[in-house]
Amino acid sequence: MAPTSFSELAKLCRDLESTTKRKEKTRLLAEFLRRLEPDEVAPAVLLIVGAVFPEFDTRTLDVGYMTVKRIFEGGKQTMLMDKPLTIKEAYRSLDEVAKASGKGSRRLKESLLRGLMSRASSEEVEVLTRIIFGEMRIGVNEGMMIEGIAEAAGIEDSIIRRALMLTGDIGKVAKTALTEGIGEVNRISMAMFVPLKPMLAAMSYDIGEVLEEHGGVSAFEFKFDGARIQAHKSGGEVRIFSRRLTDVTESLPDIVEVIRERIKPDEVILDGEAVAVGAGGKPLPFQDLMRRFTRVQKIEETVEKIPLRLHIFDILYHNGKLLIDEPYEERWRLLKSICPNELIAERIVSGDVHGIEVFLKRALEAGHEGLMAKRLDSRYTPGVRGKGWFKIKPAETLDLVIVAADWGYGRRTGWLSNYHLAARDGEDYAMIGKTFKGLTDEEFSWMTNRLQELKIGEIEATVYVKPEIVVEVDFNEIQRSPHYTSGFALRFARIKRIRTDKGPGDADKLESVKELYDKQFAYKSKIDL
Ligand code: AMP
Repeated sequence: MAPTSFSELAKLCRDLESTTKRKEKTRLLAEFLRRLEPDEVAPAVLLIVGAVFPEFDTRTLDVGYMTVKRIFEGGKQTMLMDKPLTIKEAYRSLDEVAKASGKGSRRLKESLLRGLMSRASSEEVEVLTRIIFGEMRIGVNEGMMIEGIAEAAGIEDSIIRRALMLTGDIGKVAKTALTEGIGEVNRISMAMFVPLKPMLAAMSYDIGEVLEEHGGVSAFEFKFDGARIQAHKSGGEVRIFSRRLTDVTESLPDIVEVIRERIKPDEVILDGEAVAVGAGGKPLPFQDLMRRFTRVQKIEETVEKIPLRLHIFDILYHNGKLLIDEPYEERWRLLKSICPNELIAERIVSGDVHGIEVFLKRALEAGHEGLMAKRLDSRYTPGVRGKGWFKIKPAETLDLVIVAADWGYGRRTGWLSNYHLAARDGEDYAMIGKTFKGLTDEEFSWMTNRLQELKIGEIEATVYVKPEIVVEVDFNEIQRSPHYTSGFALRFARIKRIRTDKGPGDADKLESVKELYDKQFAYKSKIDL
């Protein structure tokens, strides 16, 4: 069979974009996947979800907007090729772009891309550009792709989803499902040093509500104000992954040592939070912590200046056994048996609102963020924000994405300093406010540089950017707004911190904003009585 051309993939993307019906999208995907050769499946699936690499893979294309603009401005140099561009060739070219690094790599990337684009029709160029910027916008996220793979292979969605959860590699799962069938998909297992997605928590507004949801009693742990880490240990080898599944082992030699020296079993995967601590053991601000996660030089010096403390709260794998389907309480029991107490998160199991409030107060006084409530019989669901875990924070904040920024004036001249904040709205982002408050001069300057790298256009004094930077925003109130299409606006918004550990997919959704708006209304009317 002849290799499948990239133009067929581009056509599929157009068809997918033109329908909003889930069933129709599934059918289109399944039909397309069934037609592919075995070794085309993985590249095609990754390209359609706009990923190029599996999520845990640290490689990136690292191509700026300006590079692509230059290629377009240079005009299209059509090469007379008698053979059309194939899916595998397109994928291989992008892989080479990612591989180019170090001195002269910008030029090399540009020339590789120029070569690729010259073989593509205008429709293909459009799709390639979207892939390069990670913005497919054809309504096919991982969840949708799982359904397409399931239908194409005649395997249940849940089996595909589980295999994906364990390997983090949708290309590999798709290939196994389509070419080897259900038996092999079932045999797909987690692998040491391949991170699982962390389980996420739903937001909660009060302790009573959480208790009701969890059947009258729940485990309450301190919610630490740090960064999520997942530690894999096999014999003497330890690797640490961040919340976004990046390998951060090199920056965290102190955490590596703690895991290596103080955790007993041969093979284990642990979930926890790393917190930067200052004098007296109190947590340091988040920005200091992030310096530990991004630092690649002078690590030793930073380790000394910003010591980290590890709080472990879950165990996902233990000497050959995957534990994610075990109840939380069982996992906790095992954790206690292999891990010294001072490394384990503080917690109580309780159904008494007053006692829990006292515990919450203790957490806040110790400089932590609040509490996490965990249902005793809950399974560990990687990547899912379910009701098994609730976060309870006294002051509500929203994680929002910056979609544009205005050039400042007066003291802020030369900085992009007024940020347009948006919540996730389907595949799009809906604005709910602007703010220039909360950042230090150093942060303003960092933001200005970063936003210019992400620039997609400029109109008058406003720079529009690729939605990428997430900020945690404090506010006084959510109001109804005729001004923004979202219908909401934040009153007195202020950036509490820049969340470099979060990506746009982690930002709060417009539904959460609506929910918060309703809750605040309920609360207010209570006070007014
Ligand atoms: P949020 O980032 O607001 O969605 O809150 C969830 C995050 O809180 C998790 O991803 C962890 O990084 C962090 N966290 C802090 N303490 C805990 C804990 N005891 N259990 C689970 N997550 C925690």
